[in-house]
Amino acid sequence: MKKFVILAAGGSGTRMNADRNKIFLTVSGSPVLKKSILLFDDLVDEMVIVCKPDDFLLVKEISDSTIVSFSKQITFGGDTRQHSVLNGLKHLHADPEDIVLVHDAARCTTPKEVVINVIDSCIRYGSGVPGIPAVNTMKYADSEHFIKFTADRENLFEIQTPQGFIYKDLYKAYLLSESEHYSGTDDSSLVERIGIPVHLVPGSRRNIKITEKDDLMMIHSVAESDFSSYRIGYGYDVHRLVEGRRLILCGVEIPHSLGLLGHSDADVALHALMDALLGAASQGDIGKHFPDTSEKYKDISSLHLLHETMQIVRNAGYDLMNADVTIIAQKPKILPYIPEMVHHIARTIDCDEMQINVKATTTEKLGFEGREEGISASAVCLLKRIY
Ligand code: MG
Repeated sequence: MKKFVILAAGGSGTRMNADRNKIFLTVSGSPVLKKSILLFDDLVDEMVIVCKPDDFLLVKEISDSTIVSFSKQITFGGDTRQHSVLNGLKHLHADPEDIVLVHDAARCTTPKEVVINVIDSCIRYGSGVPGIPAVNTMKYADSEHFIKFTADRENLFEIQTPQGFIYKDLYKAYLLSESEHYSGTDDSSLVERIGIPVHLVPGSRRNIKITEKDDLMMIHSVAESDFSSYRIGYGYDVHRLVEGRRLILCGVEIPHSLGLLGHSDADVALHALMDALLGAASQGDIGKHFPDTSEKYKDISSLHLLHETMQIVRNAGYDLMNADVTIIAQKPKILPYIPEMVHHIARTIDCDEMQINVKATTTEKLGFEGREEGISASAVCLLKRIY
């Protein structure tokens, strides 16, 4: 028994005031369509994506770049979702007893358990449709918006996708609806009307269909509760202490007999912080972005580089949650300068001072820092995906 998915991707952005199909909107760094394809990884054998001819090239590009365990094909849909799914069914090379799931591509946060529930129910009962108990009171109203009666909520469910059926049942239901000009609001209603029992399985409140603009906010918050939306970074740097150079740490000039040697202002603490930021955003390191062979960066204030680094990080789709910098120096005393350091960093990268911590320690005269040959710094940061 093989398992197929028809992914209905023929929607538009009209209800969202978006200028394009909402499956192309980006959630947590990837298109909605990509996320909805990935929901079925390792769970099915074949997928048919049904889209509008105008969207074909973009759908193909996203589909081709999405590596999954199953094979995919793309076909064109019709004027309505129902016509589109029927077209998809006609393209399946399925046996009568195979399982077919139908899923809305605009649902990209469906938990894997829901897909598994649907497949298991198809195997046991010949169908599986995810539903969640209605929590709001449900009322019937007439066309003038006067309430006729209050429904008994006990047995009411809100229905989601993917909905799963045996291929021969679903195809028969779709063909009959087509010939009888019946249109339903979901796949199950077509199957129900030809007398085939449909079995409910637990859905999920995380299984949100993007219809209105507000849904996108909900989707973002569901996606953000996913750990993959957070990234940590670590940076470390060392500079040599020499005579005749200024000592600048976190953008603050500290009076001292020795200063740090380097191509830029040699602000070892900011260099560690920048490497942490770039690392968390998978953007390489400061050597890649600001090579010390470039005249452009000679004696430059590292605060400028930090500002540019944060732009690189934000352009990559991340924002800072917090950063913690540790400066390791035997001398001079750094503590009095820390509030000013925090202030400089926060102002440069446009964040709250509460998001930045700077601390300093000695090495009890051990090692190169202890012998005052150099100063080292390390930094960690946490980034959050913003798109
Ligand atoms: Mg450096």
